[in-house]
Amino acid sequence: MEHGVTQRHVIIIGAGAGGLSASIDVALAGVRVTLLERAATPGGKMHTREVDDVSVDGGPTVLTMRSVFEQLFEDAGTSLSERLTLLDSTVIARHAWTDGGLLDLYPDREQSRQSIAQFAGSDNAAGFDRFYAQSEKIHNALSSTFMSATKPNPLSLVGRVLRQHPPSSLLAARPSPDLWRALGGFFSDERLQQLFGRYATYVGSSPLSTPATLMLIAHVELDGVWLVDGGMHRLAKAMADLGQELGVDLHLNTHVNEVLVKNRKAVGVRLDDGTVLTADAVIFNGDTQAIATGQLGESAASAVTLRPSNQRALSAFTWCIKGQSSGFDLDHHNVFFESNYPSEFNTIFEDGNVPTKPTVYVCAQDRGPTGKRNAAERLLMLVNAPANGDKQTWSTDEVNHIRDNALAVLDRCGLTLSFGDDDCVATTPTDWHRRFPGSGGSLYGGASHGIWSSFTRSGARSRLKGLYLSGGSVHPGPGVPMATLSGRLAARTLLSDIIR
Ligand SMILES: Cc1cc2nc3c(=O)[nH]c(=O)nc-3n(C[C@H](O)[C@H](O)[C@H](O)COP(=O)(O)OP(=O)(O)OC[C@H]3O[C@@H](n4cnc5c(N)ncnc54)[C@H](O)[C@@H]3O)c2cc1C
Repeated sequence: MEHGVTQRHVIIIGAGAGGLSASIDVALAGVRVTLLERAATPGGKMHTREVDDVSVDGGPTVLTMRSVFEQLFEDAGTSLSERLTLLDSTVIARHAWTDGGLLDLYPDREQSRQSIAQFAGSDNAAGFDRFYAQSEKIHNALSSTFMSATKPNPLSLVGRVLRQHPPSSLLAARPSPDLWRALGGFFSDERLQQLFGRYATYVGSSPLSTPATLMLIAHVELDGVWLVDGGMHRLAKAMADLGQELGVDLHLNTHVNEVLVKNRKAVGVRLDDGTVLTADAVIFNGDTQAIATGQLGESAASAVTLRPSNQRALSAFTWCIKGQSSGFDLDHHNVFFESNYPSEFNTIFEDGNVPTKPTVYVCAQDRGPTGKRNAAERLLMLVNAPANGDKQTWSTDEVNHIRDNALAVLDRCGLTLSFGDDDCVATTPTDWHRRFPGSGGSLYGGASHGIWSSFTRSGARSRLKGLYLSGGSVHPGPGVPMATLSGRLAARTLLSDIIR
């Protein structure tokens, strides 16, 4: 450790995936870290809701890119597997359609191919082979040049790809503007277009408007999908525990009102109760729009670009449920499709409404490799929604109406869920907006619409000296692994600036 480095102090605002990973790396460099989190637990979107006597995971449920977390723990001199049990998902997800179709996708290419051949015939299975080969090429071209690298622009990305890969990789990674249409070139069965088009929603976007590069998610999933034994919030806890062991000073229930600026540099923060804390640098892990809209003070507002509300990514209505299921053999991850997928996204992004016949995701948390179900099981049900939680509120009747529309889709797929009103806890876009200031309820920052969208996200360095950014609304984008990488990028950038 360099002499003098221990005297430095960094404040991190927010203990989501990107704040936690940043805190670990900055503390590891011997810098004093204060981590300030407004919620009562660390983890941000990785959280649980109490339903009667059980805790239900209310945020992310699909864990991919295991190596991102292994590397984080390994770099800190420990191991993820010592602290957390990750279980292999034998099925990526079970997909059902209201017309009776059923398809399981596996983290094994040949098994998925056979499943698709049985479901939609040999032409579509051959299409899957071509689709997967393309997905692998895109992934290989972009994983180190884009995802793990500091924010590139289009030119620097081309340079990085060419330095690390043959020129043909550029062709694979070229941004074709429309995932939905690109999928039509691989699959004649529209249900497969739907299934793989759903990857756009992993980054809160519409398959009609996201670039086809997002098909790289297929490769990521075939690389492995894991369940965290005990629930995803355990991952957040393991990261928070590691940070604290390294000396991170974590304060919960602590809302930051202002980033203090002196001589055009971030020099500390002011808390809700007026307390002032000074620092050599500050990392912000919330939605960048909280900064842009002045919620961290007027002096910091120009540190990031203001994103128009029509460029927000998806929000969601979710229900954490303790209940019974019947009529359909649920797996851990289940997706229930209606027939008209494009109309769902037009309703959300063009009309700003919640679809009446939505795609419904159900996570049956007690099912899977070591699942243990009692009479009642823990379920998370989710439908996509527009991110207008700062402009609209929903009455209980309206929320129940949206819930009943989702239950009707499940019913048409053969699944009946039963639960009492007290055993179902809803979260609306308004609730998400309140939990994540500045977001409007968007769960993934800005939508990845258009071929340049990936380049418009802020990088780790904001426009204000001393203020750094991490989290799903900045490069390389949303999802727990990506947000974790963003925190590591913020730490690396900050450390290279302050340790000179
Ligand atoms: C329902 C749902 C399902 C999802 N499913 C998946 C999935 O299956 N797989 C996947 O990989 N991803 C999924 N995601 C996305 C994933 O959860 C997020 O992209 C990721 O967790 C975001 O991490 P983050 O670093 O941006 O921090 P966040 O989780 O956004 O946390 C930011 C933290 O900052 C705090 N904060 C903000 N402002 C302040 C302030 N002023 N003062 C103090 N604290 C502040 C907040 O309280 C919060 O704790 C899902 C998200 C949701 C909501």
